[in-house]
Amino acid sequence: MPARMNVLPKNTGWIEVICGPMFSGKTEELIRRLKRAQIGQQRVQIFKPSIDRRYAEAQIVSHSEQKLDSIAIDRAEEILALVRPDTQVVGIDEVQFFGAEAVRVCEQLANRGLRVIVAGLDQDYRGVPFDPMPHLLAVAEYISKELAVCVVCGNPAHRSQRLSPDDRRILVGARGAYEARCRACFRADGDEPAQSKSEAEAAQPGLPLGEPDGGRRLGRRTGEGQGPEHSK
Ligand code: ADP
Ligand code: MG
Ligand code: ZN
Repeated sequence: MPARMNVLPKNTGWIEVICGPMFSGKTEELIRRLKRAQIGQQRVQIFKPSIDRRYAEAQIVSHSEQKLDSIAIDRAEEILALVRPDTQVVGIDEVQFFGAEAVRVCEQLANRGLRVIVAGLDQDYRGVPFDPMPHLLAVAEYISKELAVCVVCGNPAHRSQRLSPDDRRILVGARGAYEARCRACFRADGDEPAQSKSEAEAAQPGLPLGEPDGGRRLGRRTGEGQGPEHSK
């Protein structure tokens, strides 16, 4: 594991990306970093796409019901006008919904000296990289990939399985519309995986299903230690 950084960069802004599938804890991790920034007396503003009204209009909310006040916007560009002159940290949830404009906005904010923390899906429901995440991952200083728990077999899960036959790329939904699946259990065409739940359980008796720790106990936190320590 890389040595942990104990200092935040000085005299510069930067971009942190938190990515992964649905239910992997991206919003929880975003909330954790933003709350710690607030504890450190940093002035924070949080944005989310207005399309995401799953739980609340004016808050980002995790599947585990952690919340933080946020501003709902339609286009990433609105952030540039809404950011107050004294804001030091900008958080953006569901950043993949903002398209390529999000990259330009994040770069501008970081160039102005702000700490920019974004969370988003890195793959769509077919397992295809979700633009603009590949671009954001390339330009960011710090990246963390979170994994969920495969609800079929209990493995660490990096894909979001859509459960309905809808083929629109953007279909906002939580439990019921999608579930977290590992590579082996994921089906791009929406067909049921070849391995049934009971077969998967029999094959891996030690792995509880739906363990809500995002696979951390398997020691896979690839992002651990890569971000500024007291950002976490
Ligand atoms: P994301 O923003 O990545 O969709 P959230 O931060 O909103 O994820 O929610 C993460 C939480 O979801 C977990 O801490 C856990 O309580 C819950 N959860 C529900 N299903 C799963 C799953 N299959 N794998 C991991 N966590 C899950
Ligand atoms: Mg989320
Ligand atoms: Zn699986």
